[in-house]
Amino acid sequence: MGRIYNFSAGPAVLPESVLKEAADEMMDYRGSGMSVMEMSHRSKVYDTIIKEAEADLREIMNIPDNYKVLFLQGGASQQFAMIPMNLMKNKKAGYIVTGQWAKKAYQEAKIYGEAIELASSADKTFSYIPDCSDLDIPEDCDYVYICENNTIYGTKFKTLPNTKGHVLVADVSSCFLSEPIDVSKYGIVYGGVQKNIGPAGVVIVIIREDLITEDTLPGTPTMLKYKIHADNDSLYNTPPAYGIYICGKVFKWIKSMGGLAAMKEHNEKKAKILYDFLDESKLFKGTVVKEDRSLMNVPFVTGDEELDAKFVKEAKEAGFENLKGHRTVGGMRASIYNAMPIEGVEKLVEFMKKFEKENAK
Ligand SMILES: *Cc1c(COP(=O)(O)O)cnc(C)c1O
Repeated sequence: MGRIYNFSAGPAVLPESVLKEAADEMMDYRGSGMSVMEMSHRSKVYDTIIKEAEADLREIMNIPDNYKVLFLQGGASQQFAMIPMNLMKNKKAGYIVTGQWAKKAYQEAKIYGEAIELASSADKTFSYIPDCSDLDIPEDCDYVYICENNTIYGTKFKTLPNTKGHVLVADVSSCFLSEPIDVSKYGIVYGGVQKNIGPAGVVIVIIREDLITEDTLPGTPTMLKYKIHADNDSLYNTPPAYGIYICGKVFKWIKSMGGLAAMKEHNEKKAKILYDFLDESKLFKGTVVKEDRSLMNVPFVTGDEELDAKFVKEAKEAGFENLKGHRTVGGMRASIYNAMPIEGVEKLVEFMKKFEKENAK
């Protein structure tokens, strides 16, 4: 039994050392005589796990003191509602629609107030990031929302939009901890962890303290108020305890790898191998405008659906899993998150070269 190269967009590859450590600690976590899965979330031993996870995340991301870190549930999708419910004081927010996840967030916000599409790249199947340097943003907008890395389409904001003083809210699910960011530029940075950090079931919300208020929309359930989670240090109810424990291990792994600057370098190196090949290949083509390419999700096509299917099938047989593109766009997509080793990408490109030769027209 061996491990394959897993190019899944999420849940996705995790560092092997983290999985091994978790396996070693499965039956008896550090002399506690039980698994982390079996522990009270109010116990001293678990308290250390969650506090250390938060401290390590704060260190890695250099999170300012006036931001809270919340470990929540409901996935990134629950934030699509939680954000307007907590932030829409004027019942108005601006959305930049650069793909399916941004669109879902935009549509959800419409349930709670006036959601305005400030910009969109739908005209070219979301293959680029629109110019957001001078958007027409109504004065009374409560926030401006982006999906920073578009998991399905493979685009990434390389510069943040000019929000003209409005609060910026960003879904960073698929680029979380892939490179350094300046947290102070955001009101909320959030993401589901199953793309780049840990097992599904945890969503991390980093939120500026002044945005955490009692003043939520009428009818907001207690569980969907940031304040209740902030006041209780993410322990208002039972948190996704085991998932948070694995996230904590990934934070330590990132620290041991040299932090986010080193992650960025490693990710740029990996992505370059694949993009350079796509640019020279006669068979395979990247689908995204060059300057907006994601370091994490790389969609590509041959231009022939049958050949795409053949490629996905043969790649799977050769040990490269989950290369099929998202069901809404077809083609292929290689997700090359932090834990994908450089050899995985090198071997994939070797395989693509071989496939190209065998299928030359
Ligand atoms: C996967 C993904 C989501 C949805 O996450 P869930 O945890 O399944 O709700 C939202 N946004 C982005 C950018 C994603 O990649």
